[in-house]
Amino acid sequence: GTIPPLGMTGQQFVDAATSSARGIEQYYANLSKRPVLPSISPGYLQELLAGKAPEHGESWSDIEKDIETAIMPGLTHWQHPKFMAFFPATTTFPSMLGEMWSAALSAPAFNWICSPVITELETVVMDWLSQMLGLPESFLSKGKGGGVIQLSASDTILTVMVAARERYIRRQLEREGVTEPEDIEDRSCEIRAKLVALGTDQAHSSTKKAATVAGTRFRTVPVHHSDTYALKGYELRKKIEELHDKGLSPYYLTVTLGTTNTCAVDDFDSIAGVAKDYPDIWIHCDAAYAGSALILPEYQHLSRQMSMVDSFNFNMHKWLLVNFDASCLYVQTRRDLTDTLSITPAYLKNQFSDSGLVTDYRDWQIPLGRRFRSLKIWFVIRTFGVAGLQEYIRHGIKLGNLFADLVRSRSDLFSILTPPAFGLTVFTVNPAKKHRLQLEDDGDGADPRPDQDRHIPVKPEAERAELEQANEITKEVFEIIERKKEFFLTSTLVGA
Ligand code: PLP
Repeated sequence: GTIPPLGMTGQQFVDAATSSARGIEQYYANLSKRPVLPSISPGYLQELLAGKAPEHGESWSDIEKDIETAIMPGLTHWQHPKFMAFFPATTTFPSMLGEMWSAALSAPAFNWICSPVITELETVVMDWLSQMLGLPESFLSKGKGGGVIQLSASDTILTVMVAARERYIRRQLEREGVTEPEDIEDRSCEIRAKLVALGTDQAHSSTKKAATVAGTRFRTVPVHHSDTYALKGYELRKKIEELHDKGLSPYYLTVTLGTTNTCAVDDFDSIAGVAKDYPDIWIHCDAAYAGSALILPEYQHLSRQMSMVDSFNFNMHKWLLVNFDASCLYVQTRRDLTDTLSITPAYLKNQFSDSGLVTDYRDWQIPLGRRFRSLKIWFVIRTFGVAGLQEYIRHGIKLGNLFADLVRSRSDLFSILTPPAFGLTVFTVNPAKKHRLQLEDDGDGADPRPDQDRHIPVKPEAERAELEQANEITKEVFEIIERKKEFFLTSTLVGA
């Protein structure tokens, strides 16, 4: 028969949605019984699915069956209690419902007028979150600042870097009194060619990638303190002076609250002391993972230090129970974004934007269209309440500490590289390390392997031996983990 415009009749949708909700509930109820990792070979799906799209529509019951037969075998179960890689990537039922409603109401609300509530709810929840995190008042929408929800930390970093680049150029042109359009263009190109974005050698790779996209140089500021891995002000000053001596212009810096490698927190106080001497350098704080911990009053001394940065981001989709994507970006001065990113052709003009009384989030981001992401955040905050979210994060940190204690209790097997920071403990496995050193020094004089390949054994018999040893150790790790459920959600295994 003819397929209804929405793909299903109302009743078919209710049945399919009910069945999906039940399937999702069952997935979570039985998740711990599944293996964490898939055991398929690359290309498995090509073999399972027909080589071309179906000519005629299929029923939901046929489509649904393939979730178990085709999708599940290829899934890595990130929500599995034994998933230990990377950082957490949380989701919750209220967040899923937010996604469902967002998809149902599908509206790319780039301007306020496109669908006012999409903008207004985003402003409300971003202000709520800013207050929950204890960020300085200057990040609230009632002043000159505000928050916007973007896809990922990488997007927020690219967005602010482009705004930083153009702010630097605008200020320089103003100082030089350049006003003629052609002169502005020529001089801008000259200034741009000297610009350097900075990140520490511990900053996430998204800063380097953003500099590639923004088309400026990128330099790392080496961090010398291997006990804390935190950037100190004097290291930053040295790098800035070195670049100025070469005739280059640093215009942007990423500082980090919770680095990817060790969850290090840069030394914001000493950095602030340097930043005040270089007000044209935009400082962005990347708190992608650890920012969620700022909802705890015991961490809010860090929030207060954010008065020294131009912008701040954290990912709710890492640790605050909202599913990907929900990266929250805050700026102290929203005009820093809109002065660069607001371009208004005739078809985007409207009386509300012209009145200056509304926010058009398209001017705070690179894409035009945007998703209704605030809905899932709203649902999650309302379901858990601030107290519920605090309890969840506090529990994660407690489990991280417990994990570190268990690792310490087996110092014959493991060494702690950096102590628990937020939910993360970095540790290494002693025997494997020893064994690896033996492998590298096996006396045959050959094989000057590059650093990044060092962990790949060359000889099959040596590989087998190392694998067997790694298996033993993995078993040992799992035994420890089995004794205390849950904590692996917030910890990362390094070096095994
Ligand atoms: N910044 C930090 C500190 C991270 O730890 C990560 C991911 O682990 C990112 C940025 C990248 O996040 P996204 O995937 O949201 O771009």
